[in-house]
Amino acid sequence: MLDTLRRIVQEVNGAVNLAQALDIIVLRVRQALSVDVCSVYLTTPGKEELVLMATEGLNPESKRRVRLNFNEGLVGLVAQRAEPINLDDAPNHPRFKYFPETGEERYHGFLGVPIVHHRQLLGVVVVQTHETRRFGDDHASFLFTLAAQLSGAISHAEVSGEIEALRGKGGEIDVFIKGISGAPGVAIGTALVAYPHADLEAVPDRVPEDIEREERLFRDCVLRVQQEMLMVKERMGGVLPSEERVLFDAYVMMLGSDYLVDRTIERIRAGSWAQGALRDTIRENARKFEDMQDAYLSERAEDIWDLGRRILVHLQQSNDKREGDQPERIVLVGKNVGVVELAEIPHERLAGIVSEGGSSSSHVAILARALGIPAVMGAADLPAGRLNGREVVVDGYAGRVFVQPSKQIRQEFERLEREEREFAAGLTEFAEQPAVTTDGVHVPVYLNSGLLADVDTATQLNADGIGLYRTEFPFMIREQFPSEDEQFRVYRKVLESVAPRPATLRALDIGGDKLLSYFPVKEDNPFLGWRGIRIMLDHPEIFLTQLRAMLRANEGLNNLQVLLPMVASAKEVDESLRLLQRAYQELIDEGMLVTMPKVGVMVEVPSAVYIAEALARRVDFLSIGSNDLVQYLLAVDRNNARVADLYHAFHPAVLRALRDIVTSVHRVGKPVSICGEMASDPASVILLLGMEIDSLSVSLAGLPRVKWVIRSFSRARAKALYHEALGLEEPDAVRKLLNDALIQSGLGGLVRPARA
Ligand code: PEP
Ligand code: MG
Repeated sequence: MLDTLRRIVQEVNGAVNLAQALDIIVLRVRQALSVDVCSVYLTTPGKEELVLMATEGLNPESKRRVRLNFNEGLVGLVAQRAEPINLDDAPNHPRFKYFPETGEERYHGFLGVPIVHHRQLLGVVVVQTHETRRFGDDHASFLFTLAAQLSGAISHAEVSGEIEALRGKGGEIDVFIKGISGAPGVAIGTALVAYPHADLEAVPDRVPEDIEREERLFRDCVLRVQQEMLMVKERMGGVLPSEERVLFDAYVMMLGSDYLVDRTIERIRAGSWAQGALRDTIRENARKFEDMQDAYLSERAEDIWDLGRRILVHLQQSNDKREGDQPERIVLVGKNVGVVELAEIPHERLAGIVSEGGSSSSHVAILARALGIPAVMGAADLPAGRLNGREVVVDGYAGRVFVQPSKQIRQEFERLEREEREFAAGLTEFAEQPAVTTDGVHVPVYLNSGLLADVDTATQLNADGIGLYRTEFPFMIREQFPSEDEQFRVYRKVLESVAPRPATLRALDIGGDKLLSYFPVKEDNPFLGWRGIRIMLDHPEIFLTQLRAMLRANEGLNNLQVLLPMVASAKEVDESLRLLQRAYQELIDEGMLVTMPKVGVMVEVPSAVYIAEALARRVDFLSIGSNDLVQYLLAVDRNNARVADLYHAFHPAVLRALRDIVTSVHRVGKPVSICGEMASDPASVILLLGMEIDSLSVSLAGLPRVKWVIRSFSRARAKALYHEALGLEEPDAVRKLLNDALIQSGLGGLVRPARA
């Protein structure tokens, strides 16, 4: 049974559209269970109504004609209860309803199973028999499992509007996909699907403008791969024996085979772009090999994937050359939108971001906030592959995405977008004023940065300097480690842009969700693994190169501060300081006029909270990385949408940890800053002022808001609120206390729910 189930799901996943998928389901289930009828009914969003969408056994003419309410018939009862119903003689049941269009009176055995996705009923799948019989447990489990596996695909079709199209007109219904707020704001734009290059499985669906051109392009790329293979074979002449080289002939043959070329061309002619057609053909063929009993033959599936990837690389290269016609306002959409994909879009065109994975503390969300671009993360039901070119509304406040919105929704969001712009324009005056509380305490506000573009604005915006420059971004957008000179040029620009104000460059913090394509680290628990300073100390050659580049960039400017990430023990600080001293000495010996910079340690793991005093004694300052600290204190993965509602910066445990860090660091007379996202949240700024944090480092978009808060509160009032917050047991209660305080002080515009 498991095998049959797998085959059906595979076949359904390969269908070109929902109509075909449903037809496959009813046909295959009827065969597999040897029943007389199999039908699928789908619900109409916003209504308690089911429509017969596909059937094998009932009158095909009744498809899309039979509609029933949840309170009608047995199918309605399955929907109402959202539970399976198994009956040996359906017409005898009080809820049985006769639909003349279907000729249903002849069927007795009935098994109906609900199709549920994320607590929502999407439809009902039904099997029926002429004879009076009760379905056995194996049949019931089979249908139950199938319905559970298909619910995701049906939900995707719902969102992408396919079901509406199939149903014919039924009025406009605005279905939205629920995610998590990644960056505030609203945006309307055209979806552009991001996908990692040369990953066949990630290729999205697209309809080509010119089918003949796609066909030519595909043939051309196959030819190029064939030539490549022959060249490789030639080159291997002296290395591999001739029998091993036969493999390349096999590749060339496969490339010329009917199944690969003809099936792909067929798909292109049916309306797919070459990359999508190739993906489906390769998948289809690889599966055939994977299913073979013979171990040798089943391993050939990998060869087919490999060939597919090779052709894909050529298709992508040809495609990149004509990607100039990108939409004016792009909403970047993808499975797991990464920092690199974001960097590839021209900044002025990027209107919004929607990612299937991730959460508000993922790095892409942080970057989106820095750039002031609305983002929705963790939109797990996103049919990313089918959205390219569609109009999309991103609601970054409520974490919602509307696909192909109705006129009404579009107008509503256009109004919000306009209001947003006016609100932001009104805030810019605060950016230029000093961050001083109403009772005269100056709390420097620095900027978090990682892209050169925002460094340039740091000066204009009157930030007190750069509090966190994430050096990993320049590493991530390259294909190999940047050389010392390359790094020197980047860092010099950063330091120059704010001199004489300080610029804090953080040592490379890779691992976790920040990976380098050219330095793969595969771990079961990457956030508890090889990350940040751990990697740097294990690879002193990488660390020393970076430290040398930083020190050289500081020559004559002397505004560099070096920050160490992910520190969990005092020993890591001692070892880092030794390497810094060594880099310094080397440069002095080479005749350079470098100076020793100030050094800071990030507090982002629980152990660092408890040894904050020992850490502070060794360096010049500490900086709290609340993004990671919250994740590690609460054991909530910052990238996991499923647990995102458990990630609370106002959790009492977090507030106590922050209090203890500040007390310990001040005890040894050193300053402590905070550079996590918490510092950019207007409500938490009140708490941070109250706990006497010495400075804040915030995102670009947060800067004017944070300064507005500082200039509106006295330290005394902030202290009172902070002490009140420490007495509360629920994060929501703390949020309410602080939001109320903002509203009372005339800063209601900063309270997010009000702006939604
Ligand atoms: C943090 O963890 O709070 C931090 C600033 O570092 P990152 O977000 O880059 O991990
Ligand atoms: Mg961190």
